[in-house]
Amino acid sequence: MPLGIYIHIPYCASKCRYCDFDSVTDFAGRQEYVRVLKSEIRRYADKGISADSLFFGGGTPSVMEAELLAELAECCREVFGLKGEITTEANPDSADFRWLKTLADAGFTRVSFGAQSAVEEELRALGRRHNAAAVQEAMAAAGEAGFCHRNLDVMVGIPFQNAESLDQTLTTFAGLGPDHISAYLLKIEEGTPFYRERMERFCPGEEETAALYLQTVETLRESGFEQYEISNFAKPGGECRHNLKYWRCEEYLGFGPSAHSFYQGKRFYHPRGVQQYLDTDGCMFLDEGPGGDAEERLMLALRLSEGADLSDLPENQYRSILTRARKYQKAGMVQIQGARIHLTPEGFLVSNGILADLLLEL
Ligand code: SF4
Repeated sequence: MPLGIYIHIPYCASKCRYCDFDSVTDFAGRQEYVRVLKSEIRRYADKGISADSLFFGGGTPSVMEAELLAELAECCREVFGLKGEITTEANPDSADFRWLKTLADAGFTRVSFGAQSAVEEELRALGRRHNAAAVQEAMAAAGEAGFCHRNLDVMVGIPFQNAESLDQTLTTFAGLGPDHISAYLLKIEEGTPFYRERMERFCPGEEETAALYLQTVETLRESGFEQYEISNFAKPGGECRHNLKYWRCEEYLGFGPSAHSFYQGKRFYHPRGVQQYLDTDGCMFLDEGPGGDAEERLMLALRLSEGADLSDLPENQYRSILTRARKYQKAGMVQIQGARIHLTPEGFLVSNGILADLLLEL
């Protein structure tokens, strides 16, 4: 089966105040970085591997010249016979028409903007570089450049957000014509400015954030976006095929610092840090052990609205999961249809606890 390719771009124009992703603001070494990435990709040549999705994430791919990203995509075509979806993440302030057009002409099919909010006060608190008008301009430029698949990221539970401001963000963004919206709950990570400055004081509380999440599901549904994963919503045909591979436990290879891979039953990843990646010529990996067992498959499948089919499990495990699932079904958090179970939006909110309980005896 063709696999997915992920390429990490570890550069950003500046650091957002909540972010602990692996990225640095000095990108003078990007040409050298692309050279090492290509040499790592070429190590898979002649292994008979094919790929049908490529995803550039970060960091901020749009701080790189479009030509460099196009070169990397071409390298993946040579090595993996890449055909299909090519996505790049981008920030609204650094993706202009020329950049987008160059990528659309190079066969990129999908762009995902880190938009986060349409409310200026919220964007400022997050430390984002763009304003709401820049999201509108970037979306229009992407449409004109030829991208029919466009995603906007939204953050829920952020400083100063309430039901009214979230509604403003969701209705504004839905009106810009994306076919996909991702909505992530803010998690304040240790070591970030948000953590040090105790920014949770300005964030909605736990119950209010849960209500904002359910509001997001409902508002997006009314705007024609079906929820297909805990944090992802799409119009028909707009689902991100690359990300579906993760949740369906299909294989993928990740290139660049902090990029994870699942290949031939093994999970492994590059450690964080672009300098170390360069110093080791992209050859240092950390082993995460075997992947793809029944428990992992179920955990990943239950992130999806389509849920998991239990019919392949041994009878005792199947019965145990169904028995445990019934109490969540009564609480409106799980639905059971024959041998298939899936979580509802209320269940997604507490999915860690439900999954730990359901899979206790696997
Ligand atoms: S643009 Fe994205 S990766 Fe870069 S600092 Fe902001 S949140 Fe982090």
